Formats: sequence, structure tokens, C-alpha cells
Amino acid sequence: MSLPPERPIYLDYQATTPVDPRVVEAMLPYFTDCPGNPASNNHLYGWEAKAAVDLARAAIADAIGAEPKEIVFTSGATEANNLAIKGVAETYLTKGRHLITMQTEHNAILEPCKYLEKLGFEVTYLPPQADGLLDIEKLQAALRPDTILVSVMAANNEIGVLQPLLQIGQLCRHHQVLFHTDAAQAIGKIPLDVKAMQIDLLSITGHKLYGPKGIGALYIRNRNPHVQIAPQLQGGGQERNYRSGTLPTPQIVGLGKAIELGVAEQAAAAKRLTQLRTDLWQKLQVLEGIHLNGHPQQRLPGCLSVSFADVDGTAFLLGLQPYVALSSGSACASSKPSPSHVLMALGHSAKLARSTLRFGLGRFTTPEEIEQAAHHVLVTVQRLRSQASTQA
Ligand SMILES: *Cc1c(COP(=O)(O)O)cnc(C)c1O
Repeated sequence: MSLPPERPIYLDYQATTPVDPRVVEAMLPYFTDCPGNPASNNHLYGWEAKAAVDLARAAIADAIGAEPKEIVFTSGATEANNLAIKGVAETYLTKGRHLITMQTEHNAILEPCKYLEKLGFEVTYLPPQADGLLDIEKLQAALRPDTILVSVMAANNEIGVLQPLLQIGQLCRHHQVLFHTDAAQAIGKIPLDVKAMQIDLLSITGHKLYGPKGIGALYIRNRNPHVQIAPQLQGGGQERNYRSGTLPTPQIVGLGKAIELGVAEQAAAAKRLTQLRTDLWQKLQVLEGIHLNGHPQQRLPGCLSVSFADVDGTAFLLGLQPYVALSSGSACASSKPSPSHVLMALGHSAKLARSTLRFGLGRFTTPEEIEQAAHHVLVTVQRLRSQASTQA
């Protein structure tokens, strides 16, 4: 066996990404030379900070076909999701108290929904089809006169499937139900257009797209319809009262730059990563008893989720640890003992869910790294399977 490298190959881009050096560079002046509060309108320091925030806001709006004033900065996608779901629930409760989402959503959707259930709201959690995609007919059947919100993520963080946003948007608009999408994994990776897709609310975050951690945004549609949400943080009235708190200029500049780069390089990155992902999948084909999770084509370019039969999940991840940094499901779930709720919703046994690897490829992944990672996975699976058969 070869000696472990100094640092394992990073293949956990769905958990978080490194910050692109171009993003770091854009942020730096706003820590030191330009420290102003964007809300200070009596001096140069405030003006230049506000100008930087405005530029970032415009870049983000541009990336999704929105207007700058429809963008509200938050601390990330968790806060954006909470603001969207609780904010809509509080504002529209006289119209109805029913929400629809999917079983395979991120916990930052599921937990606010569970919280609302405790307050007397009703939530329908739609199961995915075997390929992870939403069945649009099931959604149609679940819509009720008292439904106020449908929340379906753009791209799944564990299995990478891309939900049919266009169809969901059309259906929701037809029934005059608001449509929210958690686009934390999708922004900058696939084209998004809130007008064409008739999206009313959309959550994003910086750290899945080579931007800083601790910054994100919520798009809130201003016209046709004018969406209203109740603020969840009260204070200085920043962000048109939707989200109080001093704007973190460096983070906002970083988010804007990250999204600008992501959109500019999206097509080329998608092509490169799809190729790398396909190569990886082909290399794994040497093994028997492997299963691709999620639709084979309708998925994020850089995400490959594979379940390996007859392999002990714990030993598998431990064996790979020195060589390849990845997880079996979401980073948040990897600290919990229970298997991934996403894989369970696909109908996997708890055992198979545990022996699943999510390969997250990204901007800095090289073909050599894929070659080596595939090698380590093959060797580890073969070792564990032969150990199991000699013990049996
Ligand atoms: C990472 C992630 C979140 C949480 O985003 P934070 O910015 O870390 O709060 C929410 N939803 C999805 C789909 C994610 O991948």
C-alpha cells in the first residue's frame, strides 16, 4: 500500500468550496482601506461601501434575471430559506396555512417547515421518484385552495439532481401559489432565470460557489405578483426592512464577484466537470454492485453520488479518509448517526445509504485527482469486500 499523501484530495465541493483567489482579491480593500458602513450617507467611506454593495447587488440580480431591489442579503442560504418560508407563512396565513415541499430538501427547508407545523400550519412532503426527480402530477394533486407556498430546491446537495423548475413555476403561477426554490447548489452551475421559470423567491449562498462563508441572499419578487414577507430580524431597518443588520461589505463584494465569475464561466465549467464526472463513473464500472443515485443526465455537472453494495459504510469512509476527502451525504448529516434522509427517500436501506459516496468535483479538481481518487475507491472497495468474504 502506498503512503498517504500529505493532504487528501478534496472532493467535497457540495459541502463547501475554497474561495477563488480573484474573489479574495476583490474583497480585501473592504476590510482595510474602505471600512465604511454602507448605511453611512454623510461621508466618502459610507458612499464607497454603498457603491460596492450596489455593484454586487446588480451582479447577483443580473445572474438570475431579477432587479437589484429584489435582492435581500442574508447570512447564507439557511437564513434565506428561513426568511422565505416563515416570512411567507406569517404574511399569507389569512389566505391559507398549507405548504408543499419535498422529502429530499435540505434541513434548512425541512426544519422551518416542521416548526410551522407546530404553529398549526400543514405541510405536504412529496416523495421523489426513483431518480430523485419531482413527479409534477403529484405536485398538481397536492395543491389546495389554501396552499400558500411550494418550495422545491433547484439542485439537490446530496445526489445532484436538478428539479424541473420551469414546470413547477408554470404550475404554481397557474394556481396563484408562490414558488420558492433553494438554489444554494445551483447558482452559477446551471442557468437560472426567475422570469422564465416564474420563481417568486430564490435562496443563494456564497460558499458553494467559490465565495466566502456567512453571506447569501434571498430574491423576493417585486412585481407580478408583489411578494410580501414578514421580516424575521428586527432592528435598524436595512434591506428595505426585510433584514436588519449592518451589511458586511467585504462578504457582499465577495458574493457578487463569485456569482459574476460563476455565470461568466458556467458553460465552460459545466462542460469540463461533466467530462470529469463521466470519466469517474466509467472508472468505477470495474466494480460490481454499484448504483448511481439520481437521474443520470438531469444533474449537477460536478456531483456524482454512488452507492456500493456489500461494503461497510463506516470502514469505507475511514479507509478513504487519508486519501480522499468526501462524505456519504450532506456535511450536516455526516455528524449525525442516522442515515441520509435523501437516500432513504429514494428507497435505499439504511445500510446502502451508509455505504454511499458523494463525489463533489469543482473548479480546482484535476483529471489526475480523479484518476487517483477512483484508484483509492476501487482498492478500498475490493479490500473491504474480500475481508468480508474471508470472515464469512
Ligand atoms: C449548503 C446548503 C444550504 C445551507 O446554506 P448555508 O449558506 O450554509 O446556510 C441550504 N440548502 C442547500 C441546498 C445547501 O446545499
